[in-house]
Amino acid sequence: MVRKASRLPFAFQRLIDPFVSGVYAGDPSTLSAEAATGRVQVLEKKAGSLVAGAIQLFQERGAEKKEPRDPRLPEVKGQTVGSFREGLKQFSDALCADIDSKGSPVQLNWKLKQLAFDDQSQVHVLDYDTPKGAVRLRSRSVVLTAPSYVTAELLRPVCAPAAETLSAIRYPRVAAVTVEYPRSAFREPAHGKGIVNGFGQLHPRTQGIRTLGTIYSSSLFPNRMPDDDKIMLLHYIGGARDPELYGGIQDLTEGELVEDLNALCKRPIPSATLPISSMYRNGSGNGRAGQGGGYAERDKEQETMESAADQLTSWDTNTRKFSLQTLGLCGPSADVYSDQVAKCLDDEEAAVRKAAAVALGKMRASSETSALLAALRDTDAEVRCEAARALGQVSAKVVSPHVSKVVALHQDADEEVGLAAVSCLVAVGQARVLAPFTSSTFPTVAKAAIMEIGRCPMARTANAGCLSRALSHKDTAVRMAAAQACGELGAECAEEHLRALASASADRHVKVRRAAVQALGRLGSLAADCLVRFFRDSDDSLRHFAAETMGGLDDALAAEVTAKSLTEAQATSTQRQSALQALGKMKAGRDHAAAVAACLDDADLATRLAAIQALSGLKSEDYAPRLEQLRKDPAAGVRIAAVSALAKMGERGASSALIFLEDEDAGVRQSAVKVFSPLHSKLPSSVARAHIHQVAQLLLDEDWHVRLAVVVALGDLHMDIFSEQVAALSQDENNQVRRSAVAALEKMKASPAHAARFLGDDDPAVRSHAEEVYASLGGGRPDDDGDISEATHRDTVQTMLHPTEANNLPTALGVRVWDRAIPQLEIGHNKRLADVKESLADAGVKGMYLAGNYVGGVALGRCVEFGIEIANEVVDFIKVDAKQPTPA
Ligand SMILES: Cc1cc2nc3c(=O)[nH]c(=O)nc-3n(C[C@H](O)[C@H](O)[C@H](O)COP(=O)(O)OP(=O)(O)OC[C@H]3O[C@@H](n4cnc5c(N)ncnc54)[C@H](O)[C@@H]3O)c2cc1C
Repeated sequence: MVRKASRLPFAFQRLIDPFVSGVYAGDPSTLSAEAATGRVQVLEKKAGSLVAGAIQLFQERGAEKKEPRDPRLPEVKGQTVGSFREGLKQFSDALCADIDSKGSPVQLNWKLKQLAFDDQSQVHVLDYDTPKGAVRLRSRSVVLTAPSYVTAELLRPVCAPAAETLSAIRYPRVAAVTVEYPRSAFREPAHGKGIVNGFGQLHPRTQGIRTLGTIYSSSLFPNRMPDDDKIMLLHYIGGARDPELYGGIQDLTEGELVEDLNALCKRPIPSATLPISSMYRNGSGNGRAGQGGGYAERDKEQETMESAADQLTSWDTNTRKFSLQTLGLCGPSADVYSDQVAKCLDDEEAAVRKAAAVALGKMRASSETSALLAALRDTDAEVRCEAARALGQVSAKVVSPHVSKVVALHQDADEEVGLAAVSCLVAVGQARVLAPFTSSTFPTVAKAAIMEIGRCPMARTANAGCLSRALSHKDTAVRMAAAQACGELGAECAEEHLRALASASADRHVKVRRAAVQALGRLGSLAADCLVRFFRDSDDSLRHFAAETMGGLDDALAAEVTAKSLTEAQATSTQRQSALQALGKMKAGRDHAAAVAACLDDADLATRLAAIQALSGLKSEDYAPRLEQLRKDPAAGVRIAAVSALAKMGERGASSALIFLEDEDAGVRQSAVKVFSPLHSKLPSSVARAHIHQVAQLLLDEDWHVRLAVVVALGDLHMDIFSEQVAALSQDENNQVRRSAVAALEKMKASPAHAARFLGDDDPAVRSHAEEVYASLGGGRPDDDGDISEATHRDTVQTMLHPTEANNLPTALGVRVWDRAIPQLEIGHNKRLADVKESLADAGVKGMYLAGNYVGGVALGRCVEFGIEIANEVVDFIKVDAKQPTPA
């Protein structure tokens, strides 16, 4: 965002910065303009600039024909903020009441504990903790609206890469503080429109105000403040930049939060204050989870079915169709009407025949299998498709003798029919007859068949030949699926599969090559010879993946094959690097440590680095002296890598690392110090302490990064004998060093007198931290005058409140802290979401929709809009009327 806004510095300071602070509680330098301001970006793309885009949008809106306004809505002047009379909860309550009235009760306090995807039946299995105990639901589709960090953990067993990606999304801590002041405390502002009149304020970080924004609750919303003599304010404090600017709100007590905000109220309203775009009242959602229902009372259901069955012969097409849908919704309990429904498979209208097939499937009408088999030859593709799906839902035992009729659909001219036939055969446990579908003219059908064959042990053994052939299919997705399926073969894997997977190293699509590597990894060390081919791949990440995969095989054979690839005469440098990476991961790699060490003299820098990394992985102390020799290497990067590797080599490594403390390069010295720092190194603390005097000498290093690293190490090793030297850093020019010195004193349990040297620090964050540490070391709390909020207050007691109110804290009506408040749509966010989608698809998970605000956007209006978009996608996916899951 900063990069995009750098063309307009004023707009950045007055618009983007407060917007980012107010809406995301975020940091504009890390947020993605594309992800965080999707619509603003559209404006820019539309007309070349934000302003021109906005004008064009207004013009277009003016020209649009407006829908008549709902007369029940209150009249408002222009753009305004809004909430509900009883707060936002009123909105969710109304939604629930509406859903309840449609016969599908909304379930509250259902906590999703676990999620799985049943490959065979292609349904999600959802385990909930509910007020009535554990409940399991099965559903074709799931919409997950939990925050990304919850969703990540739920998805982990189903798709670990998606979980990894999602867990990288950060949520800063934010607190909402509602306070009440006497009206008399406020000064009349210069605009003359009365005190605290308007929406509120948003504060650019550049203004030095800690609070992100304040909502004038009593003037903005009627009936929130019954007492006219009182004013209610809602402050938001915290956010992504608070830790860096003010030390974070995590340690502030509720009282301190109020105090901090009180100081703000005594400050003049800054010129850059902006109206807040929309109102938010309740921090967390209400924990609702949808649940299938159907008809609550049995006799009502019976009545409905009877009347629907009566209508099946109606002259009106829609009535017949609707009646079939109704019977379908009643599921197996409508089976008594199955013969009447089956007759509708001969209806003159294709839509009715289709509805009949769907209904028979939902009714699990095994008695109508023959009718459904006949419908597989219907002239209408949709009818054939639904008939195939329905056959997958009726009893497998009844369908199995007739599978050849379903298999015949591999030549069907319609793609959907082919797909439905594959699903049907899988559902009735006949995946092993799927081979003809692998040569379908539709790649999607061929892919589906291959994936299913791969999933079923019997099917993949019976069809091993067609899997290896499919690796040369013209369609990328089919080749990928074939590679994955080959990986499932395990001990059944034959020479032809290995050959086919190895030849995939020449595939033009990196995804196929990746799938082949993954498959080879599953086949064990027999595949090592094939896997090394990928060490020469042109794609960096694939080479990396191949090396990691080889490393994971970790046995003598894999290590030997890898070492051979390292030393072979024609090996390219990238090949050697991959081989080194793999050997570094293997315990069996130790047998080849000499070959690895030989690469420390390689002419190629990246290869030297890879060799160091590999030796580090092998943790072989014997090679510490060899790494020490690298102190003469001209590349600082190599020296840094050598030091880091020494950290894993125990006592011998530590002795060698000491030499690097004298390096001319500050980065190398810093890395050498970190060897002795417990949180940065694997070196046992007892060994680190033995050498700490040499490390402590660098407290006077010319480079602050080095001094910082030393202070951290001393603190983490609890070296109280250095308290005096650390306290002397109160004179250090760098505030990060001073701050870390304070933290180190606390860890060392130094005397309060040492911490006291930082109490007068110029930097408020250092000062505040010093006050905490001083108190925790037994020095007591600094008096009120020294309190940080008072210091801020002295700077800010200007207008909003009368100066005489300076020491009067407001009444705190409520303080609520969200440890993880708002997702940060940081640079690369959209790509991250795309990766998650792709990982889920790669894992074969279907019907899974992620719909938290980290996907759709954080403004409430956008959340609602996005909810509708997702609902439409789900409807497209399930393609039937509101099919709800039912407890198993
Ligand atoms: C302090 C703060 C101020 C805000 N101010 C505004 C504002 O002024 N205007 C605005 O438009 N937006 C504002 N927002 C943003 C807005 O509130 C959110 O973007 C919106 O509520 C997000 O909706 P959501 O459904 O994605 O997530 P949430 O509202 O967080 O809902 C997630 C739900 O998932 C549930 N859940 C979690 N785990 C499970 C599980 N295992 N099983 C079942 N359920 C689970 C949770 O209980 C919760 O109900 C603010 C947010 C915060 C935190």
